[in-house]
Amino acid sequence: MNIKQLPSFKYHPDPIASGVFVKSDSVCPVCNQNNGYKYVGPFYAFTEVENICPWCIKNGKAAEKYDLTFVDEDEIDSVADEQAIEELTKMTPGYFFPQGDTWPAHCDDFCILLGGAKVVEIEDKLSLLTKDLEFIKERLEITDDMLLKDLTKDNSPLWWILFKCKGCDSYKLIADYE
Ligand SMILES: [Zn+2]
Ligand SMILES: [Zn+2]
Repeated sequence: MNIKQLPSFKYHPDPIASGVFVKSDSVCPVCNQNNGYKYVGPFYAFTEVENICPWCIKNGKAAEKYDLTFVDEDEIDSVADEQAIEELTKMTPGYFFPQGDTWPAHCDDFCILLGGAKVVEIEDKLSLLTKDLEFIKERLEITDDMLLKDLTKDNSPLWWILFKCKGCDSYKLIADYE
């Protein structure tokens, strides 16, 4: 068995934890190899493509071959650097979310996706997230109590994803009901 170190993605450090890379025996349609993993996350393309491997995301060949993006270009925050946009949309695995996928930016670069697996992670950051929490409450039309309850309970219907700025200590939170 050919065990390779998974490529690293600066905006999405742990695609296995976020569930978009899974172990696989299938052959990647781009490099025609079985690399042990395939991408099962969202993508935006004109054709259905399956079994893309992490390496063909990283080197941009999957995006090039199928003219696709893994993150929706129309939904992301804006940054000035065209290369950063290219890297995020075409060379970074997307993530699962109920209503499309935005990608927050701060300090003129895209934030790092930390994921939504650990509630504890967010509890001590709530004071840093006031603006985002206000925005979420308003958009979902829910109260403080409802939001906190749904953020902290197990198997909550509320999905949330925490991002961190690469340039400063800011966090960004997005949340939506499934
Ligand atoms: Zn491949
Ligand atoms: Zn920042």
